[in-house]
Amino acid sequence: MSDHRPDAAARVRDLTLEQKAALTSGRDFWHLQDLPEADVPSVMVADGPHGLRKQPKDADPIGLGTSLPATCFPPAVTLGSSWDPDLTRRVGRALGREARAARVSVLLGPGVNIKRSPLCGRNFEYFSEDPFLAGRVAAAYVHGVQELGVGTSLKHFAANNQETDRMRVSADIDERTLREIYLPAFEYVVKDAQPRTVMCAYNKLNGTYTAEHRWLLTGLLREEWGFEGLVVSDWGAVNDRVAAIAAGLDIEMPPSHSDHLIVEAVRDGRLDETAVDTAARRVLELLDATEATRHAFEDPDYDAHHALAREAASAGAVLLKNDDGLLPLNPTGIRKLAVIGEFARTPRYQGAGSSQVVPTRVDTALEALTDTLGADRVTFTPGFALDGVPDPGLVAAAVAAARDADTVVVFLGLPQSAESEGYDRAHMDLPAHQLELLAAVHEVNPRTVVVLSNGSAVSVSPWQRHAAALLEGWLLGQAGGTATADLLFGRTEPGGRLTETIPVRLEDNPSHLHFPGGEQRVRYAEGVFVGYRYYDTLDVPVAYPFGFGLGYTTFTVADGGPRVARTDANTFDVEVDITNTGDRAGSQVVQLYVHDAESPVGRPEQELKGFAKLTLAPGETGTARFRLDERAFAYWSSAESRWKVEPGTAQLRVGFSSRDIRATHEVTTEGNRPADAPRLDAMSTVLDWLSDPVGAEILMPLLNKIGEGAEREMPPEARKMLAQLPMSKIALFTGQSAAATAELVERYRTALDTEAAPSTAG
Ligand code: BGC
Repeated sequence: MSDHRPDAAARVRDLTLEQKAALTSGRDFWHLQDLPEADVPSVMVADGPHGLRKQPKDADPIGLGTSLPATCFPPAVTLGSSWDPDLTRRVGRALGREARAARVSVLLGPGVNIKRSPLCGRNFEYFSEDPFLAGRVAAAYVHGVQELGVGTSLKHFAANNQETDRMRVSADIDERTLREIYLPAFEYVVKDAQPRTVMCAYNKLNGTYTAEHRWLLTGLLREEWGFEGLVVSDWGAVNDRVAAIAAGLDIEMPPSHSDHLIVEAVRDGRLDETAVDTAARRVLELLDATEATRHAFEDPDYDAHHALAREAASAGAVLLKNDDGLLPLNPTGIRKLAVIGEFARTPRYQGAGSSQVVPTRVDTALEALTDTLGADRVTFTPGFALDGVPDPGLVAAAVAAARDADTVVVFLGLPQSAESEGYDRAHMDLPAHQLELLAAVHEVNPRTVVVLSNGSAVSVSPWQRHAAALLEGWLLGQAGGTATADLLFGRTEPGGRLTETIPVRLEDNPSHLHFPGGEQRVRYAEGVFVGYRYYDTLDVPVAYPFGFGLGYTTFTVADGGPRVARTDANTFDVEVDITNTGDRAGSQVVQLYVHDAESPVGRPEQELKGFAKLTLAPGETGTARFRLDERAFAYWSSAESRWKVEPGTAQLRVGFSSRDIRATHEVTTEGNRPADAPRLDAMSTVLDWLSDPVGAEILMPLLNKIGEGAEREMPPEARKMLAQLPMSKIALFTGQSAAATAELVERYRTALDTEAAPSTAG
């Protein structure tokens, strides 16, 4: 912003109502509204998230057509699997550089919606089933992009966890589940990184379009979390301009050419003009904050960005299985490598829909493997056609190639049409003809490595016995082909760990009975038990657990486990040493879960509250460090509308996946009961009274009366029944008057007040 320009609020005062209303919608599909007469420039926004999708001027009207070439980094599914915020930040900076050079002011990402079901067609654009992880990685992305002066758009706010009927469906979610699962990633990114914009979702939340949801867009986002930027609609998410602006939505995109509705509503007194002022001010503030993007900038180094995309691909690929250390392959030991599967030649490296980037170039695994081994040592057969029509001839050729090779790499995956923005999957299976091919190949050559390309979990249990090694490549971006060869030959190691559980069967997924809902409603009936929070609580067998992934070396957690230092009533610093016990350098993701069972509400068996990725040389020991804040132990109390920490013990669990816990440590939390927390009353149960030291002292005499004169001690079942009764009923059953009950409550209150009053005694 130029030094002499008045601030945005002052400039808004000089605008007419019509001008202000004009600023609350775009000029066209990708530009915000300009006002040349008021010196307001037009700026461009573009998708996002894993590459710049800047469309040329004559692009198709629904915006899914071509765009200018840009580096296609691995999408969020893969970046998230790196569990590496530093790497993600570097990717963010590269994206920022490309956007800046293209004079794009806001890059429309990242997406932090939670992977509630493996079927969501857009899971490849999201980071995880876990909000802690999604928030940390996404915040790094936002920092990276915004360091270049380019804004980001945190999306899709909120509860957009399916594509089915996304423009109408109401996600019906209780507040605890929202607060603990579907909102924390947004909350963390807003508080930690202040994205310049937040994009509302298409869907309704509990019956109200998120674009018109005042609690969501204003109460929570701004007043509670302190969001300072601008809220933009998802493209086409506004149904009622006036309701949206009143709720806190600042810009409608693309424009519906209905600014006059805003003007009329103000003139009729249906809309407060200050709401329009505020939205207009936020637009001007965004323009000020991204001013640098309107000036020339150096050309990005696309080679360096390709190299970074290659690094990120290795960092996010997850090795699920590696029998007898088949991987990495030793290039000098290979006489003939059979490369099978169309994806080796025609890679699937990103998902479909609005995030689809036109890459600057694309590496194929076939070329990269051939580069290493030489053409005479590689036989390629496609094995299947991408259109899914079974072809026995292709299978026969593949089997012949496999028989003649010492090792086979089979590239399987989901065809592009299987998963996309705009619709969900109906199942999580790979195409049957691909699996038949695999079985036939494995039968003649058990040294079979499978490389997968898919944007969300696929079933592996029915067929993984046909793979001696299994590399989940997700979608690896434009350099995925070379990265795959790097991984297979051990020039890099698979750095990824699962950010979503791979269930044995789709039916095991906790959302299964309630996904994608019907009649325009989807009920999140599984509550907070999403992903591993469900599988681990019920001990449901899974194919591969959350956090899992192999490398080419091994690690141990040092004897003695974590070192824990209390820093306050409910906060701790934790350190743990791990050692690389193998003979290769490698990385490991140390994961810290909190198990907090003592609670009046049902809580997941454990929840991720810290992670650290360490890269260590053979024999080297490194230290993972974590800070556990109060939220690490808290649940959202719907009764008290606050994050509540119970006094009691909690277990810290350190491991290499949610099912591979290597060390534990018990801590005691003191609880966080605020001074004005609700107190006991006549309807509090006997158990509530007895759990409170002051209450117990007051109630005990009454309880003792019940036993008086009885011939035998009260049996345990009677005690249990008593514990659940409201105190006033006990009083009633023991013949006390209502006045006597009131007196007990009064004594309790007085005792507390005396305790709280500052002592005046000497
Ligand atoms: C998507 C957004 C995207 C926007 C602009 C919408 O369909 O949901 O993620 O940023 O289009 O392309």
